[in-house]
Amino acid sequence: MENIIEVKNITFSYPESEEDAPAEPTLKDLSLDIRNGEFVAIVGPNGSGKSTLAKCLNALLLPEEGKVCVAGMDTSDEDLIWKIRSQVGMVFQNPDNQLVSSVVEDDVAFGPENLGVDPAEIRRRVDEALKAVNMYDNRRKGPHQLSGGQKQRVAIAGVLAMQSSCMIFDEPTAMLDPSGRAEIIDVICDLHRQGKTIVLITHFMEEAAKADRIVVLKDGQLAMEGTPLEVFAREDRLREMKLVLPFAIELADQLKARGIELPKDIVTEEDLMAALESLTAGRKTAGEAVPCA
Ligand code: ADP
Ligand code: MG
Repeated sequence: MENIIEVKNITFSYPESEEDAPAEPTLKDLSLDIRNGEFVAIVGPNGSGKSTLAKCLNALLLPEEGKVCVAGMDTSDEDLIWKIRSQVGMVFQNPDNQLVSSVVEDDVAFGPENLGVDPAEIRRRVDEALKAVNMYDNRRKGPHQLSGGQKQRVAIAGVLAMQSSCMIFDEPTAMLDPSGRAEIIDVICDLHRQGKTIVLITHFMEEAAKADRIVVLKDGQLAMEGTPLEVFAREDRLREMKLVLPFAIELADQLKARGIELPKDIVTEEDLMAALESLTAGRKTAGEAVPCA
């Protein structure tokens, strides 16, 4: 199947509280297809509807108009809800709210246990999932013995153990320190390389830069969409939405302004490093002085 997720013209409103005047819907006539194996980043200002959209993708919320299909299954079909939720796993922002057991490996087993998976198969899946996020050696620990990044990796293992083909991450690094953030992004990139479909909601543009495609939400609508290179080329539009460029692009622009010749397609820090490396390598072979790093 081409698209694992198809969102067709959905509108969603939260119930109004009594004192509130009728509000605008949170999601308005929004459509989005996600291909099998694709890595999509969703960015946008606070309150633009990113988390609401994520919850519509695995049937935690149902749109009032339009429809969402996951692997061909309509999320409004109540009989399919567990099948849908096991296909599309979610990892949320707060690592402390996601672990339910007092031992890491029990936590990872929780999802497949609820799906009624056979115990020997659960054991196999739990070990495999913990190894995939590099937490196998910590399998007997309690959540209180783990860092934030480690807890998020356990939460990811929990989704892996359900064998979800698509994983949605809703700002999974927002509460982590830089090293915890890097751990999680490495795991996400690994999972994508292994063929998982990834939807990453983030306000870190460096993280979004690693995706195949970036979708920008504004006021519950799709404001922009394209490869990271295409989206980051529209700096003015991003600034209007108070979104910034990734550091690597900012730095590359400043270097170019100082006359250093760099390729146009720099998006990630890895791109910038490779470009600088080939520049200095070229100078070395040409016998020019290489400036200190
Ligand atoms: P984002 O994740 O982009 O910050 P959200 O999807 O969380 O945005 O929220 C979009 C809008 O919906 C906001 O105006 C927010 O106040 C509102 N909202 C979010 N969750 C609820 C809720 N449970 N009840 C009522 N309104 C909500
Ligand atoms: Mg949110």
